[in-house]
Amino acid sequence: MGLYDKFARLAGEREQFQTSGLNPFGICIDEIYSATEGRIGKQKIVLAGTNNYLGLTFNAQAIADGQAALAAQGTGTTGSRMANGSYGSHLTLEHELAAFFDRPTAIVFSTGYTANLGVISTLADPSAVVLIDADCHASIYDACALGGAQIIRFRHNDAQDLERRMVRLGERARDAIIIVEGIYSMLGDVAPLVEIVDIKRRLGGYLLVDEAHSFGVMGAGGRGLAQELGVEQDVDIVLGTFSKSLASIGGFAVGSKAMDVLRYCSRPYIFTASPSPSSIASVRSSLKTIAQHPELREKLWSNAHRLYHGLAKLGYELGPRISPVVPVMIGSKEVGLRLWRDLIANGVYVNLVLPPAAPAGITLLRCSVNAAHSEEQIDTIIQAFAELKQ
Ligand code: PMP
Repeated sequence: MGLYDKFARLAGEREQFQTSGLNPFGICIDEIYSATEGRIGKQKIVLAGTNNYLGLTFNAQAIADGQAALAAQGTGTTGSRMANGSYGSHLTLEHELAAFFDRPTAIVFSTGYTANLGVISTLADPSAVVLIDADCHASIYDACALGGAQIIRFRHNDAQDLERRMVRLGERARDAIIIVEGIYSMLGDVAPLVEIVDIKRRLGGYLLVDEAHSFGVMGAGGRGLAQELGVEQDVDIVLGTFSKSLASIGGFAVGSKAMDVLRYCSRPYIFTASPSPSSIASVRSSLKTIAQHPELREKLWSNAHRLYHGLAKLGYELGPRISPVVPVMIGSKEVGLRLWRDLIANGVYVNLVLPPAAPAGITLLRCSVNAAHSEEQIDTIIQAFAELKQ
């Protein structure tokens, strides 16, 4: 048997995508002009399928700080923080993140994926019980699998289902680890954190919230959903990424002083290279921008409202709430693929999401807005969808 024979069906399906036009899983954005515009082939496009929520990828200060760090400290660290040493800027960023969240400790990881893997797999060892929302990101599932914990999935955003499962655990609920996300990346909905915190107060357990899509986006200071709902005190660890509103690459965890011990036993922290100085410098710059410019968040939400209402008026079935992530529900995979290609031909790039990446077996076109989109660009996105309705 050939090495890749077991992937024959998958390879065939992907080849079919390619031969019938643009392949949604092999798309190349040939040029990026700004946080909102690019080019695919000959087609100029409005970018409406990113996680660049605050539109900071081209922020002048973040670029200047990144370039200065590149020139001063080199292109990469070439090693892990434990074996080869942290750079001063890793530690500075950790202090700044801890201060931003008003928590004792922050740990920086190389990506958001490894932040989840690093924290969760280490805590979720075979002696642990972990309750996760069914729609949690793959990195959370992978982390639980790597750690070897007992995994209990509860129905997406269903606090009652979580409670039932916690009650069933009896005494073990007191040490259970509950993991949810702030904004969910595909449907744009948010965790019922107030209800979950109430369960935690009554039955015990620890609460980890992945604020990957809500950091910089929600809360008066941009700290995420827990801040927005006033329950930060009840969240034991906040997980996040630098690859969305912070517009760079890397990840983080913030928590109690005791969390620092994870540095000495978390394999995804220890056995991978640390983020490059330029990434760290851009993140530090963007973190300041988030703190100093709350109007970016306001613009983001105003754009989110404009897109949601515009698409709803056209009769599209959307996600359950207004959010910077606006999913457009599509009947079938084939229709989704056709619409996705037609949108590009109309100058708009969104994400085609097929099961199992989309929850509950649905196909969706995931649109996302950012603070750098002009109202005209939001209207261009709505117009492109309007043309598909005709
Ligand atoms: N958590 C969630 C909820 C995510 O959506 C993602 C990425 N889409 C990650 C973690 C991983 O982040 P990164 O891309 O920085 O590795």
